[in-house]
Amino acid sequence: MIWPNKAKCAVMLTFDFDAETLWLSRDPSNAGRPGVLSQGIYGAQRGVPEILRVLADYHLPATFFTPGWTAEKYPDRIHAILADGHEIGHHGYLHEWVDPAKPAEERAAFEKGLEALDRVAGIRPTGYRSPAGETSSNLISLIREYGLVYDSSLMNDVYPYRHTMPDGTPGPVELPWHWSTDDAPHMMFAVQAPRQIRNNDDIFATWRDEFDAIRQMGALYNLVMHPQFTGRPSRLMLLRRIIEHILDRGDAWIATGHDVATAWAAEEARK
Ligand SMILES: [Zn+2]
Repeated sequence: MIWPNKAKCAVMLTFDFDAETLWLSRDPSNAGRPGVLSQGIYGAQRGVPEILRVLADYHLPATFFTPGWTAEKYPDRIHAILADGHEIGHHGYLHEWVDPAKPAEERAAFEKGLEALDRVAGIRPTGYRSPAGETSSNLISLIREYGLVYDSSLMNDVYPYRHTMPDGTPGPVELPWHWSTDDAPHMMFAVQAPRQIRNNDDIFATWRDEFDAIRQMGALYNLVMHPQFTGRPSRLMLLRRIIEHILDRGDAWIATGHDVATAWAAEEARK
């Protein structure tokens, strides 16, 4: 893969701006648990502005995958993200967990999410990430039907690739990710499913090693973060640390999902 600016690899800094939907979609009864929901509120109220400050300090672009519900509840945050030149991607309406047995519900959530982003900010996203680390062939079809350029929901490569639809025609570009470069498995805690919260040195080592190896392969480093986790005070220092490590290497192209997908597609067309 030849990246723009003769870069050795591409880097995406992505933030899944779930806010309370992360908890509401896991368990609707969380609607009556203000303590649980307050984690999501932190992401919107405190996490997003702090993350925007970090990105501005380094003049770096990012992609915020945002459920429609979040955009409706926090329009000021959406406008702030856009004002700083970042990308908003589609992330469902209420962060619905995928259920391939209910294609009509998948379609309804997909369309409702698009409508909300349009109503709040007049935007039509070009990228989609499915909630909670799962997707369906129905969703890939919806992405193509609505003319989005890319998906970022699968883990079957470290290079972008193009989906092939069931009828053999080309689908959207896939920008793969992985749990190891997602903050949630390292930082997320839930009383119902307790898990060790890892320290920054361990997470940094995992993220750094993965970056260094992906850079050697000339592939895509897709960092998946959440304002309610990476927006915590010491985690913001971790974000600065990984950004500085990437910048120190001096040869990575840091771009939005939209720019990575279109650069890859241009390279595909050139071949
Ligand atoms: Zn999410």
